[in-house]
Amino acid sequence: MRSLVAEGYLSDERVIDAMLRVPREEFVPPEYRRLSYYDSPLPIGYGQTISAPHMVAIMTERLSPAPGHRVLEVGTGSGYQAAVLAEMVGPRGHVWTVERIPGLAEFALSNLSRTGYLDRVTIVVGDGSEGFPPAAPFDGIMVTAAAPDVPEPLLEQLREGGRLVIPVGSRWIQILKVIVKERGRFKVEEVLPCVFVPLVGRYGFRA
Ligand code: SAM
Repeated sequence: MRSLVAEGYLSDERVIDAMLRVPREEFVPPEYRRLSYYDSPLPIGYGQTISAPHMVAIMTERLSPAPGHRVLEVGTGSGYQAAVLAEMVGPRGHVWTVERIPGLAEFALSNLSRTGYLDRVTIVVGDGSEGFPPAAPFDGIMVTAAAPDVPEPLLEQLREGGRLVIPVGSRWIQILKVIVKERGRFKVEEVLPCVFVPLVGRYGFRA
């Protein structure tokens, strides 16, 4: 954690506290547990990864969820990012997280249950490129897989003043974008180049 602060990835005390409270080793398969605190993505099965801590730090800071917020994550994976978001929104907020691979949703369910986050996190199996209309609108939406374009349904499901953090580009390299909805219009900021596994779905890439 100290190196993430020293290297400038982390400066928001609330994000630092949230990441310190979530035990990353509980979200990593047993064979990689000893590598939990390296700043690197790690395999979680099904060809997918848990993101590197610096990317979790950057995306969480850019989303900036506040206590009481309703947040959507697309791409549950291990459940680690959902747990960090759950720490940020606190007991009055809620995180909905959508995963397309049922086996990973089960992995995340067992990780989030063991670490005590299930009261604040709801896992949904489905195509998160369509968002999750039953719980919309959201104060924040974070997509942790690479999209070819910004999915229209995610923009529609943002509350006024809400933020969307999403990597957009090709299957091989993307730009992390932050989109803020202001008076019905969308302000777009490009943050940095990044590499994510593809968002596969109706508004994503083909399988
Ligand atoms: N946030 C995760 C974590 O904390 O472990 C890491 C996410 S991993 C980089 C990307 C995830 O997005 C994978 O689990 C993948 O199956 C999922 N994914 C890809 N396309 C999706 C879609 N259309 N809807 C929901 N999940 C999707």
